[in-house]
Amino acid sequence: MVNLTSSGRRRGDGRLTAALDPHDQGPQDHCGVFGVWAPGEDVAKLTYFGLYALQHRGQESAGIAVSNGRQILVYKDMGLVSQVFDEATLDSLHGHLAVGHARYSTTGASVWENAQPIFHPTGEGSVALGHNGNLINVHELRDWAAELPEHTGGRSNPVSTNDTSLLTELLAHHPDSSLEQRALELLPQVKGAFSLVWINEDTLYAARDPQGIRPLVLGRLERGWVVASEDSALATVGASVVREIEPGEMVAIDESGLRTHRFAEPERKGCVFEYVYLARPDATIAGRNVHEARVEMGRQLAREFPVEADLVIPVPESGTPAATGYAEESGIPFGQGFVKNSYVGRTFIQPSQTLRQLGIRLKLNALEHVIRGKRIVVVDDSIVRGNTQRAQIRMLREAGAAEVHVRISSPPVKWPCFYGIDFATRAELIANGLDVDEIANSVGADSLGYISLEGMIAATKQERSALCTACFTGEYPVQLPDESLLGKHLLEVSLQSPTVGKALPVLNNP
Ligand code: SF4
Repeated sequence: MVNLTSSGRRRGDGRLTAALDPHDQGPQDHCGVFGVWAPGEDVAKLTYFGLYALQHRGQESAGIAVSNGRQILVYKDMGLVSQVFDEATLDSLHGHLAVGHARYSTTGASVWENAQPIFHPTGEGSVALGHNGNLINVHELRDWAAELPEHTGGRSNPVSTNDTSLLTELLAHHPDSSLEQRALELLPQVKGAFSLVWINEDTLYAARDPQGIRPLVLGRLERGWVVASEDSALATVGASVVREIEPGEMVAIDESGLRTHRFAEPERKGCVFEYVYLARPDATIAGRNVHEARVEMGRQLAREFPVEADLVIPVPESGTPAATGYAEESGIPFGQGFVKNSYVGRTFIQPSQTLRQLGIRLKLNALEHVIRGKRIVVVDDSIVRGNTQRAQIRMLREAGAAEVHVRISSPPVKWPCFYGIDFATRAELIANGLDVDEIANSVGADSLGYISLEGMIAATKQERSALCTACFTGEYPVQLPDESLLGKHLLEVSLQSPTVGKALPVLNNP
C-alpha cells in the first residue's frame, strides 16, 4: 500500500525574492537532490539536513520520500526546507532509504503539483524521484508517455507539468523488466541535464547525464551510503566523500551493496557557472574547490582590469571570494561596504507597495562610514539585466563613494541556459543589447570590467572541452531541439493545446 501525503496547503509560489525586486532576478538556481540508504539511521532527518545544506540550489519547494521496505511515503510542500518540515512531520517518516529534493522550477510552474520527489506507482510497487537539471527532449518524453497503456495524461499527477513527471512515468513503466533494467534502457534516450536520485521500496538509485552538467557525489556513512548534489551536503550529515557519480553512470544501492552501470559514454561538459555562482563555496567539483576557483577569478580580474582605488568590496555573499582575490592581487584593501539582510529574501509575506518600491534596500544596505569619500571597486559574480547593479551603485554614491568601479567574475551573460538555470530571456539580458562601455554607462559605473572567458576557465582548472560555457558563448554542448520545443512552460502549453504531440508555441523561454 502506498501512502502519499502532503499538507495540501498552498503557500503562494515561494518566489518572493522576485516580487521584492521584480525587475531583476539574478541567475536562479536549479535544484538540490539528496539520497540515503542507511538501515538503522533516521533517514528522514539525514535527508532533511542534507537538503538544508543544499537549500541554495532551490527555494520554491521541498520534499522527502522515505521507504521502509514495504511502502514509500512522500511529504512535500511549497517553501524552504525549514518551512515545509517540522519535527513531527519528520518523525512520521520511517524507513531505511530516502530521497529529498529542494526545487527551483526550470520546466513547469512553481506549484505544489510540480514539487518533488515525484511519486508514481509501478506494476510491482512504486517509485519516487528527484531531479536536478533540465531536460531538452521533453516533447519526445511527452510523446512516449502518451503511448503508455496506463498513461495518466502524460503526468504522474494530472496537473503536474514538469519534465521530471514525464521521466518518472516512463521509468515506472516496466512490465517485462526490473526498474533497474528499465532505467538502463530509458536514460540513454533522455537528453539534457539530469542528476537524478530515486527509490523504489528497497533500492536507492542515482544517475548523471553523460555530460555531467550538474554535479552529483557519492558518500559513505558508517552504516550506509549517501548521494548529494554537492559534497558540502555529505559533510553536513557526517558522510565521507567516496567519489563523483560519473557522467553517464547509474548506481544502485540496496542490501546487496552498491552496483554501478555505465548507460552512456561520458562526454564531460560540467556547468562552468557552478564555479562562478551556483555551488556552495565549500563544494569541490571535478577536483576543484569552488571557493578557491572564485578567489582565483578575482585575482585574474585584478590582472585583467586593474584600477586605482581605495577599497575593494564584495556584493555579499556571492561576490565575496572574488573580491578577496581582487584585493589580494591588486594590493587594494578589502572591506565590507554592504550589509546584507540574509533573512528577507524568502518570505511568504507579501510586501506592501511602499516596501516593494524600496526594492533592493530590503536586502542590502551600504555602510556609509566605510564608503564615504573612497574610490570603490565593487566585485560581483555576474550581471543579468543590470537593474541590481544600477541600484547598488546608486546606493554607494548616496553613501558618498567618490568613484565606483564594477568588476564581474564571469564574462557577459548573453545566452539563455537550457540545462537548469533560469537567467532571463535573451532580450532581457543587458549584455545582448549593449557593449561593456554602454553597460557601464547604463548602470552608472565609472568603469566596468568582466573577466575574460579564458581567465574564468583557467580559474576552474578544467579543460575548456570539459565545460559547458553556453550562456557566455552560445555553444550548447547538447544539441537543442527546435526553439518551439523548448521553454519552461512547454507542458502547460501542451495541457491547454489540442495539438499535443505537435510543435507548440513557446510562452516563455527559461
Ligand atoms: S548554459 Fe551556462 S548556466 Fe547553463 S549549464 Fe551551461 S554554463 Fe551552466
